[in-house]
Amino acid sequence: MSVRGARKQYGDFVALDDVSLDIPSGSLTALLGPSGSGKSTLLRSIAGLEELDGGAVLIAGDDVTRVSPQKRDIGFVFQHYAAFKHLTVRKNVAFGLEIRKRPKSEIDDRVDQLLDIVGLTGFQTRFPAQLSGGQRQRMALARALAVDPRVLLLDEPFGALDAKVRADLRTWLRRLHDDVHVTTVLVTHDQQEALDVADRIAVMNAGRIEQVGTPRDLYDRP
Ligand code: ADP
Ligand code: ADP
Repeated sequence: MSVRGARKQYGDFVALDDVSLDIPSGSLTALLGPSGSGKSTLLRSIAGLEELDGGAVLIAGDDVTRVSPQKRDIGFVFQHYAAFKHLTVRKNVAFGLEIRKRPKSEIDDRVDQLLDIVGLTGFQTRFPAQLSGGQRQRMALARALAVDPRVLLLDEPFGALDAKVRADLRTWLRRLHDDVHVTTVLVTHDQQEALDVADRIAVMNAGRIEQVGTPRDLYDRP
């Protein structure tokens, strides 16, 4: 999919200033830049949640805002994940499958598989309040992945966590992506995080993309 000439203004403030970006299928692309540079606005645009003032986000040639929300097929994880407090981990992860009325046996198998992938097998009957921050974000990822989205959008998913947990989750996200290959866009202001997990990094500043490349292209890494 691709972003073509995206423009977005809030009043006089230009949040996206003619942004174009290719997001190859199966890639893990990081949007890296300081706070206020337009990363979240771009991510929401990719999700079809922003009305742009110009340009478009194209999925297989179609404008994402013209694709019906049910067919958009996007999983979203935010920094502060809004889990259902009154539902167990298992029920939270199963949520998207249950509203799609999948058969119970399929839901059970899928949830077991997802909890295994995110390392929460022993935590099924806990409630979100009984999880650590890192466990909660892994639950959020399991829930987003449950319905097999074609695109996974992550907005500073580890931003609220301490440094050690963030580092563990980066390694884990990289492995997850190597297994599942879902096209992923990760918003971060943390250069190390982008370098550790992304195949491609788009560096944003003041509503523009300044550079795009592999970690090696951009930062001369060994
Ligand atoms: P980033 O994710 O890089 O921190 P954002 O995309 O969240 O940047 O925001 C870019 C700029 O647009 C910020 O200066 C922010 O204050 C402004 N902005 C974002 N959303 C809105 C909104 N709904 N109304 C007004 N200004 C907004
Ligand atoms: P390209 O490989 O040229 O980048 P795309 O990524 O635009 O192609 O699309 C690849 C396939 O994935 C298309 O068949 C498209 O319909 C599907 N697809 C990609 N993203 C989504 C999405 N968010 N929702 C629904 N289908 C998607």
